[in-house]
Amino acid sequence: MKISDVKFELKRYEYYETFHITGSSRNVAENIEVKVFLDDGTEGIGEASPSYRVNGEIISSLFSLESTVKEMIKGIDVRDYAKVFKIMDGLSKSAPSIKAAIQYATLDALSIEIGLPVYKIFGGSKDTIETDKTISIDTLERMVQKSIETFSQGFHTLKIKVGESLKEDMEKILAISEATKGAEYVIDANQGYSPKEAIQFANFLYENKVNVKIFEQPIIWNDFEGLKFVREASPISIAADESVRTKYDAYRLIKDDCVDFINIKLMKSGISDALAIIEMAKTANVGLMIGCMSESSVGINQSVHIAAGTGAFAHCDLDSHMLIKEEKFRGKFVQKGSTINLL
Ligand SMILES: [Mg+2]
Repeated sequence: MKISDVKFELKRYEYYETFHITGSSRNVAENIEVKVFLDDGTEGIGEASPSYRVNGEIISSLFSLESTVKEMIKGIDVRDYAKVFKIMDGLSKSAPSIKAAIQYATLDALSIEIGLPVYKIFGGSKDTIETDKTISIDTLERMVQKSIETFSQGFHTLKIKVGESLKEDMEKILAISEATKGAEYVIDANQGYSPKEAIQFANFLYENKVNVKIFEQPIIWNDFEGLKFVREASPISIAADESVRTKYDAYRLIKDDCVDFINIKLMKSGISDALAIIEMAKTANVGLMIGCMSESSVGINQSVHIAAGTGAFAHCDLDSHMLIKEEKFRGKFVQKGSTINLL
């Protein structure tokens, strides 16, 4: 069960529609598929969906890690996966998405060898989870239309992207909530507001009885004091996303009472830091959600297994594979609308 080889492969996926969030618009996702080979021919698969915006990752520099990673983990028995996790922790500052992919591919290989799905290795807390679906920034009319369509497809929770214009966002949210009565919303500003704007928006949502579960990353990532200020003044729950990448970020946010929720993404933290953040948040009674970057079904599969296995998340935002075109679905789960069943 020893690792004999590691391979990286570039994958390009087109979005069905332009994915527009505060400060970023994209039509293509460029991911790195990672394979970990064992000496008996078993292949474990993982996927990195790198982010320059959040992690500062650049595809070409990530590829230069292929031979380094291979040299570092070659010969390790996958049953001793903590050794691989520790080695990849050393790379986390420069390449958290690669850390996630290698850690998962190692577990995938172990899972095949021992005949136990990855979510069972993590405790098998749940065998079904629910995901939301994202409505990206667009005109009011198109966002309303998209929201109606998505809600009627069975997605009870809609994730609405805002943050580029407070006034327009207020109009959009009111129109969407009017058109999708009974739905619940996660609002994500992707750092777009000032602390005062964020508080104004949170109060507006509350006063207008918009059914908001979580208000995500209202302000710039590195303003922890600002986040605490917003959280204290906000009548709705505040989550950190871009503000939390490592377990050390989570520790500071929790210690200083900055948030109600933490949005864990494997692409920011890898599996090892995600597990540390889960335990910290549970201990401190801080809520948890799990999100994604631009993963295909291969990458979403990773988060699905962690989410089901740990059962730690009050909310799952695992929808990127539904937003991009893939030749073939390759997740080890079955999905019907918002419901994901593990295999
Ligand atoms: Mg977010």
